Amino acid sequence: MKIKTPQPIRGTQDIFGDEALRFNHVLAVFDHVRKLYGFKRAEIPVFESTAVFARSLGETTDVVSKEMYSFEDRSGEPLTLRPEFTAGLCRAYLTSGWQQYAPCKIATHGPVFRYERPQKGRYRQFHQIDAEVLGAAEPEADVELLCLADQLLQELGIKEHVTLHLNTLGDSESREAWRAALVEYFQAHFDQLSDESRERLTRNPLRILDSKDPNDKIIAEKAPIIDDYLTEEAASFFKSVTAGLDAAGVAWTRDPRLVRGLDYYRHTAFEFITDQLGAQGTVLAGGRYDGLSEALGGNLTPAIGWAAGIERLAMLIDLPVEAAMEVAVIPLGDEAKLSALSILSALRHANISAEMTWRGNMKRRMQKANSWGVRYAIILGEEELANKVVTIRSMVTGEQEAIPLDQIVDRLVVELGNK
Ligand code: ATP
Ligand code: MG
Repeated sequence: MKIKTPQPIRGTQDIFGDEALRFNHVLAVFDHVRKLYGFKRAEIPVFESTAVFARSLGETTDVVSKEMYSFEDRSGEPLTLRPEFTAGLCRAYLTSGWQQYAPCKIATHGPVFRYERPQKGRYRQFHQIDAEVLGAAEPEADVELLCLADQLLQELGIKEHVTLHLNTLGDSESREAWRAALVEYFQAHFDQLSDESRERLTRNPLRILDSKDPNDKIIAEKAPIIDDYLTEEAASFFKSVTAGLDAAGVAWTRDPRLVRGLDYYRHTAFEFITDQLGAQGTVLAGGRYDGLSEALGGNLTPAIGWAAGIERLAMLIDLPVEAAMEVAVIPLGDEAKLSALSILSALRHANISAEMTWRGNMKRRMQKANSWGVRYAIILGEEELANKVVTIRSMVTGEQEAIPLDQIVDRLVVELGNK
């Protein structure tokens, strides 16, 4: 009986070829830019105690109430696959002594997991790059982090399609006052709200502003904005952030109804949004989360961070060009194979990219070499080997030359010039 191949899990991806090139390019550019800004690399576990996310993200958020992959391990411990990085990094900051590095500028990336309805740009296992500044109350940290995001998008070549939407959620006092005003306003429009938003009204009214329901959106457009409730202190903090962005040349647009999906945000909140991915248009998002550390039982740790979906960024960038293979090694006959392997190894150790063809007649092998785009082919025939020479062929001019076997690598190093 034929065994049935297990199918991939819904909402997961197998990434290969051009798609993988795009994916890796995003990571390479992120790594380049984070170095320019002095962000240190960190790695944290893919799973944490469920409490890390449930407590910090807020029980009523979409992520915690319906998107988490939670399970018990064999000893009955409640665990969750990380749905985002911030909470885990904050936990690590508290339990691994990273406080000593405050302000701690961290960059990380990897898979995250959310039980969502899969569609283009929305997966159940997706990947994020993430940057955080932990232990910094100053607006300079906000500016630094936004500049990092802005330069990343610029270096990825997608800045002209993406706009930075910026808001402040104020301090606790402003936020509470705004919240009360929102409840009053939405209460007055209760009949027109979606079922989901009706429920949000008692549990998490700010989230109605973030609703994707078209009716809710219309009502939300006229909802009170934070500006009328900002304390002087919160207003001045926001002013410092926007002045810093202007000084650094980062373009932004004010979006007074922008809120973040998670409960712990204060002050600065932002999203970089593209018009090119439909409903999945938010490519990078974040904000200040001064209250998170305390929600995890730590000391007050002002902090700010953002995360971006690698897949969404990868969809927007041009296909990166990968340098072509430089040399093809073509052994003809069994005898030649070992010499070919020896040359191949020497070339690669001399930092020259090289591949061996091991199938088909001469014509097929030359076709293969051509398809790799190599500049040189090294042909090892039986007769040549008997004389301890190989043929080097320029794939550009078609010229061929016999060269002593023990000189071929040095010769290619010279010909390829740059090594
Ligand atoms: P959305 O409103 O699209 O659901 P979100 O507010 O849930 O986004 P965040 O929690 O802010 O998203 O995550 C940061 C970034 O991660 C998003 O801006 C997006 O680029 C990406 N992202 C979020 N959810 C997914 C997903 N299910 N699949 C792919 N990328 C995602
Ligand atoms: Mg979401």
